[in-house]
Amino acid sequence: MDLSVVVPIYNEEENIPYLYEEISDALAETGRSYEIIFVDDGSRDTSLQVLEGLQERDERVVVVSFRRNFGQTAAMSAGFDYAEGEICITMDGDLQNDPRDIPALVAKVEEGYDVVTGWRFDRKDPYLSRKLPSKLANRLISWITGVKLNDYGCTLKAFRKEVASNIRLYGEMHRFIPAIASGMGISFTEVKVNHRARRFGSSKYGISRTLRVVLDLITVKFLLSYATKPLHVFGGVGFLSSSLGMIMALVMTIQRQFFGVPLGSRPLLLLAILLIFIGIQFITIGLVAELVVRTYHESQSKPIYHVRRVLGRDQGASSSPA
Ligand code: UDP
Ligand code: MG
Repeated sequence: MDLSVVVPIYNEEENIPYLYEEISDALAETGRSYEIIFVDDGSRDTSLQVLEGLQERDERVVVVSFRRNFGQTAAMSAGFDYAEGEICITMDGDLQNDPRDIPALVAKVEEGYDVVTGWRFDRKDPYLSRKLPSKLANRLISWITGVKLNDYGCTLKAFRKEVASNIRLYGEMHRFIPAIASGMGISFTEVKVNHRARRFGSSKYGISRTLRVVLDLITVKFLLSYATKPLHVFGGVGFLSSSLGMIMALVMTIQRQFFGVPLGSRPLLLLAILLIFIGIQFITIGLVAELVVRTYHESQSKPIYHVRRVLGRDQGASSSPA
């Protein structure tokens, strides 16, 4: 199997038939073998029936149906789990992404990039509720993760199989896949893609998504930089805080003992005690996190590194020493 196209579907009954035609046309032109994996994320309309109808007519269609609505990230994750193609392409099920862009993404992956993301340079969405927050979010995410992309939110992306099958997603993290994958040492690039206004159905998200994205960004940053050395963050903060508190306490003790400055009426004393305690807490949290990290990696035999290939052993590309 060459290509797997993964499409999350939540209440998109009118869009599915057009989507199927457009994807099939675009993929037929590439002349590759392909499958289209529709993940029905607990739709409450007739999406599932429409998908079943397609599957009966075309065996290249795979339908994964969730028991309830688990969210877009879960749907994409399921798509990766069931995908068999060498290259995995994700796209929205609302016709906003244009399947005719798929060949360009695939070409870039074949050029050698591990992840290729779409850049909706002429995005057809409302400005205030969508484009502006997204612009700020892209800047922020690029700056914090160090993976510079113009458009994190575009679902149209292509992944090499090893990347898709090695990434575990939680929360709203599907948009951070390039950043998470950069932790594995992958190469990525961006391709300008077409974007269209939604014709049928309505968007499943509101402005509240922005906050969730920022929270997920904190997780991603932590996982990228400190997942295998949590004490380096917590310990650092704790050490600073405790030291500051102790210096303050020391100064106040000297003042009290040698200069007769009374201690009881000084708010600074409370601050010093607070800082010392916060510091101790941070350090102990860091130590507990060190234990958790060991359990996380060792219980799943997850190595803390990713190997591209091994020369001199007949192992080929492998991400674990198995
Ligand atoms: N989606 C999903 N589960 C959800 C919400 C959305 O599978 O809980 C799918 C939805 O059907 C669509 C894609 O995710 O195919 C993107 O959703 P939407 O178009 O509403 O997001 P927007 O384009 O407004 O960011
Ligand atoms: Mg959309």
